[in-house]
This record gives sequence, structure tokens and C-alpha cells, in this order.
Amino acid sequence: MNQLLAGKKFLIMGVANDRSIAWAIAKQLHESGATLAFSYQGDRLESRVTKLVEATMPGSTMVQVDVTRDDEVAGAFALLKEQWGTMDGLVHSLAFAKTEELEGNFVDTSREGYLLAQDISAFSLVACSRYAKDMMPDGGTIITMTYLGGERVVGNYNVMGVAKAALDQSVRYLAADLGAQNIRVNAISAGPINTLAARGVKNFTSILPQVAEKSPLKRNITQEEVAKTALFLASDLSSGITGEIIHVDAGYHIMG
Ligand code: NAD
Repeated sequence: MNQLLAGKKFLIMGVANDRSIAWAIAKQLHESGATLAFSYQGDRLESRVTKLVEATMPGSTMVQVDVTRDDEVAGAFALLKEQWGTMDGLVHSLAFAKTEELEGNFVDTSREGYLLAQDISAFSLVACSRYAKDMMPDGGTIITMTYLGGERVVGNYNVMGVAKAALDQSVRYLAADLGAQNIRVNAISAGPINTLAARGVKNFTSILPQVAEKSPLKRNITQEEVAKTALFLASDLSSGITGEIIHVDAGYHIMG
């Protein structure tokens, strides 16, 4: 076990179950000595996420946050401020679009569906970073999760691709804003992984073998590989890196 994050405090947003990328990141950060708090979305996930956390990281702070609700976002950071005073990092690993917008043609996206995807998947990073920065007087690190569908057109990803493009650019603007405070903001662009969110994209499972065949490493990637990169971005090993999008996708994005 390394101690790269000994004494550091991180909020992990986006654990839904043990397949969540956020959960793999939490395990990696915990094994590296970090103290963690978790936010979960709504009553529906409370017992599942609490059980998961209590089994391996008992005593972690748990807080309910639906990122569309300003009061819950503000309340979560107020609670952390009371408990921790300061924090060292934020892991933002959440996104949402309606299932009906993740199939068919992008041109048919509804106004409501467009705004909802942007609100949850992109604006939430801005909102949470605003609170997080006030708890990072000595600097810190903010990590979010993106996907190639924000850079290229990927079948059925549609409105989520446009939200990821906004997220990617938010990473750059936030990195420029917060750099003077020694807060680094980066994204990991993960290859496809079979999670709850991914299964919302029509024909998602057919992407996995296609990516494995075409990518330089000739395989798919795992949550753990994403988590190891998150550990790198969370730690001082990446102290000179901000505003970056690191692809953890077996090299798929370089292929023509
Ligand atoms: P997941 O379903 O395990 O996690 C998605 C999380 O988003 C859930 O915990 C859910 O509760 C949360 N969420 C949705 N709406 C929310 C809201 N209103 N308020 C608060 N939380 C909300 O799936 P995942 O694949 O681990 O997704 C995590 C991140 O990784 C997402 O940003 C996703 O787009 C990104 N990503 C996933 C893949 C993949 O193939 N799985 C690839 C690249 C990027």
C-alpha cells in the first residue's frame, strides 16, 4: 500500500454501486491513505451506497446530493466544511441523460432533455468546484469523467456527447480560473465500461468488442485502470498537470 494521499481529504461524487467508476476511484484513493466522504443521489441509493462504503471504509461521511438541487449541493459542502474545515480534492463522476435521448437521431433531442443533460453532466462540475475551491485554501485537485463522444460523433451518445463537450471545456475554464489558487482541474476520458450509466446508451454492449478490436492494446479497459489514473491526478505525481484530458481507453482515440 502506498501513502501518496496520507492525510488528504476527498469528496467522491457518483457511486451508485460496486461497478461505478467512482467506487473504483474511492478504493484506490482509500488504499493510498486518503480520508473520504461520499455523496449519493437520492433516498433510492442511500442504503446501497452506505452498505458498500461501510463494508470497506467504515466511518466515512455520507451525504445526499442531487446535483440539480442547489440546496443539497450547498448543504453537502457546508457539512464537510463543518467536519473537515478544508479539503484536498473532489472526484466528480456523474452524468445523466434520458434513455430516450440516447438512441435515434441527435436532431430529435428535446429542449428539456438537452438542458437536463447539460445541467447534471456539465454544469454540476462548475457548481461543485465553486464550493470546493473555498475549502482548498492551500490548493487541491478536481477530477471529472468524460468520454470520446464529446470530441467525436459516437452512435447513440447524442445529447450526452454534447454535454461532455461542455464538460471538457468547463475543465479548461475552471483550470484557468483556479490555477492561481494551486487547484488543478483535469478529466479522464475513459473507454467504455459496463456500468449502470453506460447501459443507458442504446446498443452499448456492442461497442465493447468493436473498441477491443480496433484499439492499439486490443482490449477494453477496467474501472481499476481509470482509478489508477485518478490516483495519479489526485496526487503530487501530477503536480504540473492541469486543464488536461487524459484518455484511458487502450489507445482507441488515436485510431483513424
Ligand atoms: P454509474 O451509473 O455507476 O455512475 C453514474 C452516477 O451519476 C451515479 O452514481 C448516479 O447516481 C449519478 N447521478 C446521475 N444523476 C445525478 C444527479 N442528478 N445528482 C447526483 N448524481 C447523479 O456509471 P459510471 O459509468 O461509473 O459513470 C461515472 C462517470 O463516468 C459519468 O460521468 C460517465 O459519463 C463517465 N464515463 C463512463 C464511461 C463508461 O463507459 N462507463 C466512459 C466514459 C465516461
